[in-house]
This record gives sequence, structure tokens and C-alpha cells, in this order.
Amino acid sequence: MEAIKMTNIDNIRAENSPNNQVTNHSLEQVVEIQREYFKTGKTKSYEFRLAQLKKLKQAIVDRTEEFVQALHKDLGRPEFEAYFELTVLYDDVKDAIANLKKWMKPTKVTTGLLAQPGRSRIEHTPLGNVLILVPYNYPVALAFQPLIGAIAAGNTIIIKPSSLTPACSTITSELIKSIFDEHYVNSVEGSTEVTTELLTHKFDHIFFTGSPSVGKIIMAAAAKHLTPVTLELGGKSPTIVNKDCNLEQAVKRILSGKFLNAGQTCIAPDHVYVHQDIKQEFLAKAKEIVLKWYGDDPQESNDCGRIINDRHFERISALIPKDRVVVGGQVNAAQKFIAPTIVQDVTFADDIMQEEIFGPVLPVLDFSDLEDVCQQIEKLPQHPLAMYLFTADKKFEQTLISNVRCGGVNVNNTLLHAVNPHLPFGGVGQSGIGAYHGKCSFELFSHKKSVLKSATWLDIPLRYAPYGNKVSLLKKIIR
Ligand code: NAD
Repeated sequence: MEAIKMTNIDNIRAENSPNNQVTNHSLEQVVEIQREYFKTGKTKSYEFRLAQLKKLKQAIVDRTEEFVQALHKDLGRPEFEAYFELTVLYDDVKDAIANLKKWMKPTKVTTGLLAQPGRSRIEHTPLGNVLILVPYNYPVALAFQPLIGAIAAGNTIIIKPSSLTPACSTITSELIKSIFDEHYVNSVEGSTEVTTELLTHKFDHIFFTGSPSVGKIIMAAAAKHLTPVTLELGGKSPTIVNKDCNLEQAVKRILSGKFLNAGQTCIAPDHVYVHQDIKQEFLAKAKEIVLKWYGDDPQESNDCGRIINDRHFERISALIPKDRVVVGGQVNAAQKFIAPTIVQDVTFADDIMQEEIFGPVLPVLDFSDLEDVCQQIEKLPQHPLAMYLFTADKKFEQTLISNVRCGGVNVNNTLLHAVNPHLPFGGVGQSGIGAYHGKCSFELFSHKKSVLKSATWLDIPLRYAPYGNKVSLLKKIIR
């Protein structure tokens, strides 16, 4: 391969990632090496894919403690929450190992009249060279979950971890470099300039998790090479609480989904609509539970994470309507700490309802008419990534599911639809393009190749000239 000079970007990358082995190569080379390797076909066999998944599973097990500590360093993540992220990931890799053979099996389909005699099947073939771009909020799971799917599907992969989580990014890169050859899977650390440069190169698929605004940049860059993209984005995910629900259970399940990772979860309940008849009871219960879980001085609690950086700390703090705080509201800039906070009497005119909150602040609105709620959610600038309903009423449940466009729904709980590998996970409209997890990940990183094998024992001359009056046969079909 022709030697390629180090560019400015490579120098930036080298400065940002002292542990990055690939600093001897330009980014162009990093991509080219994988392109050539894919062409050797080595990534395609069942045995190869299975062996890589098993290596990855073992490496995750071996480095769990390191990741837990790194998550604490980067995000102040409580130990339980860090283990939760690692457990979801572990579950996913185990599921892929157990099901890979089944997923790879060609699917037989029927053959229509016009193609007879013949047999038809769908083969899942790898896309080729994949780029995975990782956000800061779940820097371990959101690097490795798509990686599992891309490996299962037989691709080569470059991961670009988030520069906002240096501790997790370092371990991610170390893990990858310790078990994979750079020709096959590589990790490239660095700032936005590195991503920008990576995006100038041609990939066969780009998998991006992050904000809708950066998603547009990724899609525009991918369009230059006609590269297909998966965009796992965000949005304002609503929760609707009906008066017939189990109130205490609903409050606990909403608050645990909201305050996990200090609210920095793409599918966190963004805001809550509570039926007006139970609003006061809901607020009183929520206050009681927040105080019970995090104490009078939540900053002293071991169970509250921290906001990723000063910019997000300032942004979220400014969204809190100080005169309407029910509980919480304490902030500490030096610690990047925002207490689990509930605010009331919020309307769509408030700043907090203009954007995805992505922090530990829960606005509570009320409703009396379910139709109004459906319409308000449909009016949001983007369809939500998730929706949560708390009710015992099947009609109420189905009205929301049928009439609100959103990525996924969890009835009577929060977040859990995202940890079931048998459910596709993704947004709709501006909350995302494409879905993954479990078998869906395998399918997402595979091309569905149609194969029709025509029989040779019979050669019906219908399509051959001279056509004569063969058209009369077709006319009999269109009636
Ligand atoms: P982000 O969009 O700022 O960054 C995501 C990735 O893009 C990072 O690797 C970052 O380095 C890179 N990036 C940032 N700016 C860029 C630019 N100008 N050009 C090229 N690359 C750039 O997102 P974030 O702040 O890390 O994460 C929070 C967002 O991600 C929220 O909106 C959240 O809802 C969303 N999210 C979605 C999911 C999901 O599964 N749908 C999961 C987690 C987070």
C-alpha cells in the first residue's frame, strides 16, 4: 500500500489519544486497511464470527471492573448503574452467541408464478466496512452493542468513542486493540475534527448514536458517498399517567427511569402528563420518594450521577423554573451536580418544554382529555423516541399506542423495552432511522440478498421471441 503522509487531523488525534496504537497510520490508511481485509472474506464464516463474539464476551467480563470505575470517573456513575449498563451489554453478546447460527441461516420464501419453476431464499450477507460513532451518555453499551451486531453480521468495524468520556474511551480502545487485529476492528479516539475527517472516507454503513443536530451532519456527510446510515437520536419522550394506575408503583418506576445516569438517557421520561384528578397525590408521592431515595442533601447521596460537562450543566440548570420546584433544585457548578428535581405548573411556553432535557429535571403537566394529550405529542417538532403509559385501562393504552408516533412504548414501566434484545430499538422520523438490538442488529448490519434459483429440468419458452400470441397468457393473469 502506498505510504500516506500524516495530516493535521492525525496530529490532533495523536494528541487526544495517547493510547491510540493507530497513530502511525493516517485515517485514510486506517480505513483502507479494513477495506482490503474485508475483501479477503475472512470475516464471513460462522466460525470466525462466533470466535470474535466469544472473545468480546470474555473481554467484557474481564474488564467489567475497569469500566465501572471509568464510568464513575467520566459521569460520576453510581456502581449499581454502571453494572446495569454492563449487564445489558453482557446480555446482548450472550444472545448473539446463542442465536448466531439461526440468524445466519438463509430464509426460504415462496416463489411466485412468473418465476416458476424455481426456489427462492434470502441470504444475509455482510455490508462491508462499518463506522460506529458513540455518544457520551452510555459510552460502553453504545459502543459495544452495535459492535456485537456488526461482528455477528460479518463486517469490519471502526469505532469512534466520544471524546467527552476519556476514561471509558481509553478502556474501549484498549479492549478492542487487545483482542482484535486493526484490520478487522479498530478504535479511533479524538475530537470532532477526527469524526469530521473520518466521515470524508467511504464506508458501507455508518451507525450513529447522538443528537438530532449532529445526526443531520452525519447524514449529509454520508450522502456524499451514498452511504446508508442508522441514526439513533433523541427527543422529548412523554409519560402519561392515568387516574386508574397503581400510583406509588408508577411514581417509583417513572423516577427511577428519569434519574438513572442523572437523566442523561436518550429514552428517559422527559416530562409527565398526570390526570388532573390525581395530580396533587402524584406530586406529594413523588416528593416523598425523592426525599426517601436521595435524602435531604442529595449531593451527599452515592446514588446520584453527575452531568457530563460545564456546557450541559449550565444548559440544564437554566431550564429549571425556580419558582415551581416541588422537590430538588439544588445545583453545584464545581461538582457538575444537579439534584433530582421535580417541577410543576409547566406549559409548552416554558423553556424546559422546548428541547430534550437530558438531565435530572422532571416537569409535571396535567390533563383531562386523552385526545388533547395525543394531539400535543403529535405536535412536537420530532416524534418521541419512547413513550410511557401508566394505566390499567386497555382502551386508554391502545389509544395512545395507535395514535402517537414514537419509537417504542413501555406500558406500566420505563426504559425496559430497550433492554429486551427481542424488541427492535430505534426512533421514528426525527428521533431516528433504523432499529437494532438482538436479531435486529444482525439484520441491520446485513444485506438481505435475494437469491432465486431457476430450475433447469424445464424451460418454459414464454419469455422467448417470437412472442406470437403468448401475450394472451399474460392477459389471463391480469383480470
Ligand atoms: P452528540 O450528537 O453531541 O455526539 C455524538 C457523537 O457525535 C460523538 O461521538 C461526538 O464526538 C460526535 N460529534 C459531535 N459533534 C460532531 C460534529 N459536529 N461532527 C461530527 N461528529 C460530531 O451527542 P451526545 O451529546 O454525545 O449524546 C446525547 C444525545 O444523544 C442526546 O440527544 C440523546 O438523546 C442521544 N442519544 C440517543 C440514543 C439512542 O439510542 N437513540 C442513545 C444515547 C444518546
